[in-house]
Amino acid sequence: MTRAAVLTTVGSPLTIEEIQLPELAAGEVQVRLAAAGVCHSDLSLANGTLEQPVPAVLGHEGAGTVIAIGPGVTNVGPGDRVLLNWSPSCGRCWFCTHGEPYLCDQTAGAWQRRYAQLADGTPLYAGLGTASFGEETIVPSSAVLRLPPTVDLEGAALLGCAMLTGIGAVLNSAQVQPGESVVVFGTGGVGLSVLQGARLVGAEVVIGVDISADKEALARTNGATEFIVADEQVARRVRERTGGRGADHAFECVGSASTIRQAWSSTRRGGRATIVGIGAKDEKVEFRAQEFFYSARALRGCVFGSTDIGRDLPRLLDHVQAGRVRPRDLVTNRIGLEDTPEALARMSAGKGARSLIIY
Ligand SMILES: [Zn+2]
Ligand SMILES: [Zn+2]
Repeated sequence: MTRAAVLTTVGSPLTIEEIQLPELAAGEVQVRLAAAGVCHSDLSLANGTLEQPVPAVLGHEGAGTVIAIGPGVTNVGPGDRVLLNWSPSCGRCWFCTHGEPYLCDQTAGAWQRRYAQLADGTPLYAGLGTASFGEETIVPSSAVLRLPPTVDLEGAALLGCAMLTGIGAVLNSAQVQPGESVVVFGTGGVGLSVLQGARLVGAEVVIGVDISADKEALARTNGATEFIVADEQVARRVRERTGGRGADHAFECVGSASTIRQAWSSTRRGGRATIVGIGAKDEKVEFRAQEFFYSARALRGCVFGSTDIGRDLPRLLDHVQAGRVRPRDLVTNRIGLEDTPEALARMSAGKGARSLIIY
């Protein structure tokens, strides 16, 4: 038996339960978690914004140590430090064979996986295929990536979703250039990672925007050179700080119609708005038809920072090793597994940035 935070019903708080992991099947890997981040997508899965079959163990941003492998596993062995990968790609579909593994056809199927049981025998789903809100998990070998043996597992956990997404959004999706201006809406774990990415590439003006004034210090620690408390005038304020034009790049890391609209309006003519946040199915964003001609802006969606994890993870680890990227700067709350329900409530209220579960 091992402990996990279980979502029994969509919309209700997580509860801490004893769960039973099965014998390993072929191609499976058992991991003892060292740390797991609480991501905004976990909140979206828990409250029904994103679909999640239940009962389930959520959590998809984690790192730990392999304790056992099933038959046929060759990429990792017991004792290896690993990062969980919620976006494993098949390597065979059209997207995988055209350089876009983050859009792999097969990934969503991997999320509908039962992996363990409650004490009474009820099967449990693994949230986004990884179930990192548990002391131990079982995943397919495609969902683990080996880390260097000396890596700091607590920091590494945050690479798995927030940092690959946020830094990938800057480097891969928007391709921000040195000297450009960047505005980031929302300074949670992903937004702070976008700020770190902007600092990494040498963006000159880096503006953090949040509804909460007490996020300023955190935003600046993570790379913001300016900070704006969001209101209806936010686009005008961004223009004031960017030569009257607007930013070269806006990143929306909230997932709401109003911030998508503000991100778009904050970019200069010919600028680019990259939508990283995951919005609700029924929310609509309005544009006037003529705006596209007049503004010549680009609007693009962004999945997992357009990350090719095999290519991008080693590069990111180099940046971390050199201190150019600092995962621990995202963390506002180090918590135990039993504090996970409270961490989701805190996120729902827009307080703090990353909560990191330490096992
Ligand atoms: Zn995530
Ligand atoms: Zn694929």
